[in-house]
Amino acid sequence: HDYTKDDIRNMVEQENVNFLRLMFTDLFGTVKNVELPISQLDELLDNKIMFDGSSIEGFVRIEESDMYLFPDLSTWMTFPWSAEHGKIAGVICSVRKPNGEYFEGDPRNNLIRVLDDMKKAGFTSFNIGPEPEFFLFKMDADGNPTTKLNDSGSYFDRAPMDQGEDCRREIVLTLEKMGFEVEAAHHEVAPGQHEVDFKYADALETADKIQNFKIVVKTIAKRHGLYATFMPKPLSGINGSGMHMNMSLFHDKGNAFFDKNGALELSEDAYHFLGGLLKHAKAITAIGDPTVNSYKRLVPGYEAPVYIAWSASNRSPLVRIPASRGLGTRLELRSGDPTANPYMFIAALLEAGLDGLKNKIKPMEETSRNIYKMDSEERVDNDIESLPETLKDALDELAKDDVIKNALGERLLKGFNTAKRLEYDSYKLQVSEWERKQYMEHY
Ligand code: ADP
Ligand code: MG
Ligand code: MG
Ligand code: MG
Ligand code: MG
Repeated sequence: HDYTKDDIRNMVEQENVNFLRLMFTDLFGTVKNVELPISQLDELLDNKIMFDGSSIEGFVRIEESDMYLFPDLSTWMTFPWSAEHGKIAGVICSVRKPNGEYFEGDPRNNLIRVLDDMKKAGFTSFNIGPEPEFFLFKMDADGNPTTKLNDSGSYFDRAPMDQGEDCRREIVLTLEKMGFEVEAAHHEVAPGQHEVDFKYADALETADKIQNFKIVVKTIAKRHGLYATFMPKPLSGINGSGMHMNMSLFHDKGNAFFDKNGALELSEDAYHFLGGLLKHAKAITAIGDPTVNSYKRLVPGYEAPVYIAWSASNRSPLVRIPASRGLGTRLELRSGDPTANPYMFIAALLEAGLDGLKNKIKPMEETSRNIYKMDSEERVDNDIESLPETLKDALDELAKDDVIKNALGERLLKGFNTAKRLEYDSYKLQVSEWERKQYMEHY
């Protein structure tokens, strides 16, 4: 929506908004909020809202703590749930320096920068259709999550097996009120696990939507006495939660990945973009799977990818090319999960693909066989490498990959690398229940 300041004033009036929630996303993909009373509306619309950036972890140094929040009026919305003291409107903001320049440490600003590279390469939009999955757990009396699932359903099950159905239905209705076009919502493979898909849109809009999506899911679940988590692998032994990313580049004439005369009806651009994704897949993993827990999902046997390969016919490899053609021609990367910062993840995907286009990178041959049935020798013969197995390995891959480093820019890269290495080191110091069970009595 192209809202003017007057449109906003009218909406606020009509919808009885009493609070303004200013949102931006930090390095870790967490939505940060600053809440203002409605009396601050004019200040907000005039880009006069300041905040202390040094209080946000990994954001800015103390000496440059004064930051401004410039609202992106096109993201304005009123949260459909009513609060005790009137409604809350939300707007996504750009973090700016005191002189009005974009602050490079804001992941959303960075994505806007990378989208310029795409425009220079002659494309009009990078379309993303995400498939975020999540679990619904029961809450205890204090409102804390337990590890008890709320149902014992599985893929595409329906009530009464799927007790999360009411909750999921309300999530869908709420999303629709907020302008989402929900294409599908279904129970996933694991008990208590769900997926809601919404229609693809341009990169920036989709990244914003992923952030709002997580807020809606958590809020509505709580109202049903459930705790929603996007943690990739909350329970061992059952499928984890991923966030497949469907992507395509459009130019003036439509979908640049479609060519009805090409092999598999795909264009040269599609193959080169694919080549770039595969070449940079290891470094992308650091950003798409940025937590220690992410790597507990990327293991054989649960539908998550482990090897670097692509296919148009089978579902197991890292990149799948779904069957639809024409406008729906797309590549699907299946490694990422919802702990990824969507702005950074999408920036990395785009730079990888553009590198493929610029350098005409050819993808390896299609793998139509089930890779999990190959032994390691066969995989070597077929040029099939593995994704990084730990967060540390992924960060080491990132450190070697200039294209993906450029996708983040110096500022974000430094903050991300430092924070994630600390996270890994802190994990390494832990001694787990598994280790005690395995070794205490044995040795
Ligand atoms: P799957 O078959 O992997 O489960 P889904 O049907 O759950 O896939 O999700 C497909 C996603 O792809 C949706 O978000 C849809 O809007 C999106 N999509 C469709 N066409 C395109 C396109 N051209 N570019 C990017 N995403 C697209
Ligand atoms: Mg799906
Ligand atoms: Mg589907
Ligand atoms: Mg799924
Ligand atoms: Mg999928």
